[in-house]
Amino acid sequence: MECPDCNSTHIRKNGKRRGKQNHICVDCHRQFLDCYAPPPGYSDEVKRECLKMSVNGMGFRAIERVKGVHHTTVIYWLKQVGEHLPDSYAPESIPEVGELDELETFVGAKKTKSGSGQPLTTSDLEF
Ligand SMILES: [Zn+2]
Repeated sequence: MECPDCNSTHIRKNGKRRGKQNHICVDCHRQFLDCYAPPPGYSDEVKRECLKMSVNGMGFRAIERVKGVHHTTVIYWLKQVGEHLPDSYAPESIPEVGELDELETFVGAKKTKSGSGQPLTTSDLEF
């Protein structure tokens, strides 16, 4: 087991995330899951072609058949690229339910925090 960022083998277990073992790198504090596996070294050209096919509506399994790149690798690349796209980018795919739940929990927590236990009354408002 190596840290995906600094390749340190100084790794500690860090609880579970959605049933998967989470790990933390003691050296750089990068967190990652047990199943973390960087795609094998494909060239940028292969990567670009796969992404282009995907953007043009080809399924991941079709790309896998044509390019010989495993579909999970293509999905990984897509996510990677998606993270670096500007906010205006609107992916056609709907986020997983799990991710939506997480978002709602986050928003809910934020609301509670901003209230900080003090309810607003009309006397707080300035007219
Ligand atoms: Zn590290």
